[in-house]
Amino acid sequence: MYSPWRRRGPRYHRRRVPKEPARIDFVVSVDRCLMSNHHGKEFIGFMATGPAVGMPERVWMRIACPPIRVDRHGFPWQAPYGLRKIEAALRDAGFRAAVVDPDYVAYYVTHGARALMIGHHDYFAYGPPSSEWWMLTGREPVNRKSFMDFISMPEIWWAKREKGLRVVIGGPAVWQWDVYREALERWPVDTIVDGEAEKAVVELAEKIMSGEELPRRVVVPPRESPRVEEIPVIKAPSVNGLVEIMRGCPRGCKFCSVTLRPLRYMPLDKIEAEIRVNLENGVGNVILHSEDVLLYGADVVKPRPEPLLRLHGMVARYLEEYDAGFAWSHASLAAVKYAEEHGRTVSRIAELVLDGDRRKMFGVEVGIETGSVRLARKIMPAKAAPYPAEKWPEIVEDAFRIMADNNIVPAATYILGLPGETEDDVYATIELIERLRPYPSLIVPMFFVPMGMLKDLEGFRRDNLKPYHVEAMKVSARHSLYWARRLLAKGYLDKAHYLPIKLLIEAFLHVAEKRINNIDKYFEDILEAPTAPSRRERAAASA
Ligand code: SF4
Repeated sequence: MYSPWRRRGPRYHRRRVPKEPARIDFVVSVDRCLMSNHHGKEFIGFMATGPAVGMPERVWMRIACPPIRVDRHGFPWQAPYGLRKIEAALRDAGFRAAVVDPDYVAYYVTHGARALMIGHHDYFAYGPPSSEWWMLTGREPVNRKSFMDFISMPEIWWAKREKGLRVVIGGPAVWQWDVYREALERWPVDTIVDGEAEKAVVELAEKIMSGEELPRRVVVPPRESPRVEEIPVIKAPSVNGLVEIMRGCPRGCKFCSVTLRPLRYMPLDKIEAEIRVNLENGVGNVILHSEDVLLYGADVVKPRPEPLLRLHGMVARYLEEYDAGFAWSHASLAAVKYAEEHGRTVSRIAELVLDGDRRKMFGVEVGIETGSVRLARKIMPAKAAPYPAEKWPEIVEDAFRIMADNNIVPAATYILGLPGETEDDVYATIELIERLRPYPSLIVPMFFVPMGMLKDLEGFRRDNLKPYHVEAMKVSARHSLYWARRLLAKGYLDKAHYLPIKLLIEAFLHVAEKRINNIDKYFEDILEAPTAPSRRERAAASA
């Protein structure tokens, strides 16, 4: 069996004994890369999706995912939202369950726990953006190493053999256990839960307590996803105050798995209860989570001002009372444009939640995906809705301008290697990114990973890389470095205790800038030509 003791490099988890052990039957946990609040900044957590660059791995881990504070039981102060939901579902059903910090898992699984339940969104670093950093650098991302270190703890496998501990895995990345075929031989887990797990996990817990055989795989199809009233309220704080406001997405992008789930809006009282759990326990942040925050209470894909202003009005009262930070998890660019053009909704939300001092700006993840109208029409026809797909590049630009006007800083992704992609599609993306230069934002490439309706296709591989892909990466990397520096200077990480992190990030940006300047050299061995002239250069040369 795989052993962490044979690995080189830093150990990711310790064996600690709680000051006051609790009696629990269900240990809910995950490795350190996810069990961290990333110094209170979600963006810093993205560093865990790559290998250490320009500094020792130990320092990299310390920046990306420092250990979280624990109580006398070894329970973490903040934990990933998905794990909190599982903990809440089990507790509401009357089970003794708790999210346990990974450093205390070895203790609990060897001291009477009946099951270890693990949830993850990127078990083996096959998802974006981990897979692309791995492909580009040829080195394993730290999140993969950290998870393997966690799941390889000898205590887990000793408890399974000697005490009958059951190991259950779930979360949005369970598909990776099918891709990495040896995984189930290396780590023989009992059950894989595929789908939204709040109800399924309670049925499994009943079976575990009565000593029944467990099914190898539990699949929760979209039609059996829990209804709003079956989704429990978290009992303890989530990482950086994340609370879910809706599930599912109506846009139907072909490369996305979320779109297969039914659409559900959380009622305001449930959202408020979770915000209170976080703020009253000292988490000075509210992150509203949805695949598209502006579709909360929407008329399908048309944002409506009333529910959005009611939601943000309620949130603003708590931000004021607790002097808390604020962010959205994700928003779609079409919704940003539509909401602003119909009732100035984005501006009115920004007026509610920003105060110019404590909250100068707020962040959100957005998907550009492509600058090509042809590809947008083919692969994500409703991403632009209610506008026509033909207007996609214009929508992206308008949405970036609206966000810049309202101090909203997007972290945007685009996808290289989408099925059917041509050189011209990539140049359309490059030109769009160049037009976004005036707007404060980070823009990061992703390589196509087969998911959603395209899950049976081939993913993008290193040998698919062409000079125009490298050109796109250079353009977006320069954009992101330019704005990362300015955002750091403008007040991101401006508290005194962030100074060491800020200095290390600046050092990293310096190293990254040097590497980008040498990127052509780096790719020489896998490209037919070291770099490609841009479409403009080609046009100029032929004129
Ligand atoms: S808009 Fe985003 S969440 Fe919705 S289907 Fe498209 S990629 Fe998925």
